[in-house]
Amino acid sequence: MRTAVMTEVRKPWTIKTLPDPRPQPGQVLIRIRASGMCGTDLHAHHGVMPVPLPIVLGHEPVGEIVEVGAGVDGLRAGDRVGVSWTQKGCGRCRFCQERRESYCAEAQTWVHMGGGNSELMLAWASGCTLVPQGLSDEAAAPIFCAGYTVMSGLRNAAPKPGERVAVLGLGGLGHLAVQYAKALGLEVFALTGSAAKKDEARRLGADQVIVAGDDLGRALLDAGGADVILGTTNSAAHATQALRGLRPEGRMVNMGLVDGAIQADPMHFLSNQVRLVGSRQNQRRDLVEALVLATSGKVKPMIEVYPLDRVNEVRDRLEAGKVRYRAVIKH
Ligand SMILES: [Zn+2]
Ligand SMILES: [Zn+2]
Repeated sequence: MRTAVMTEVRKPWTIKTLPDPRPQPGQVLIRIRASGMCGTDLHAHHGVMPVPLPIVLGHEPVGEIVEVGAGVDGLRAGDRVGVSWTQKGCGRCRFCQERRESYCAEAQTWVHMGGGNSELMLAWASGCTLVPQGLSDEAAAPIFCAGYTVMSGLRNAAPKPGERVAVLGLGGLGHLAVQYAKALGLEVFALTGSAAKKDEARRLGADQVIVAGDDLGRALLDAGGADVILGTTNSAAHATQALRGLRPEGRMVNMGLVDGAIQADPMHFLSNQVRLVGSRQNQRRDLVEALVLATSGKVKPMIEVYPLDRVNEVRDRLEAGKVRYRAVIKH
């Protein structure tokens, strides 16, 4: 199988031909068709998120099961599936008993199994979710991290009908956050520091686009504030500013790995009883909901498609902020 291997931090990934793996009991072998590239891959590449080396990255994989290991129920060869970040827990700790395997200290992820930048990939069957018919491989791939994360963020914010959602950051996650919030029938503001993104945000369905100068929170308050802020930015400064734009009892859900501490204005925090919520991929039902909305056409991932041979170029493009909005490797 041809595979892009990361062997060192900050060095180009190497295309290698490795022996085809065989699934162990409980695992499946997937012929990968499409795999999205996420901002977290950059964090791994730069050593900000330490990973054991060598490693194959790519945690938005979609493909066809070609072999099923012993003891796998429910999945068959020929099934089209994607794989979640967390694939399997120890099965015995409190979190596993509660089906919250992502908190398990022994959780198995792509870091242990290898990712989708490869023609073939092993995964635990318990980490696989069927891709609905009618959703293409390349559109499905970004749902397995970006879409899932955004839907969990929305569910963690628990917006009520009539509430206003502001999306901070318009990248791989943010462009989906606007669409998912809209698909749930909410009023959606896009919050950006870049005037160039105004028309794009409108096309994605934002009811209003706030292009803020030096204070996103002030600009949001001037526009009436928000009940929910979906934070997808990497900038702690922008997240800090935006937090002050919450209405009373508002929730800011932060999904980006920000580059520092988010600061709360003590008086605003206290008197308005606002909440700052961390969010990642949560319940599997959030992923299924995200897939269903994408299949219905209410949410359309905007993607650029590249072959595996160009994986280093794609990573550099992502790092330079040039990807609109998700790059997908197609095998
Ligand atoms: Zn990701
Ligand atoms: Zn466990």
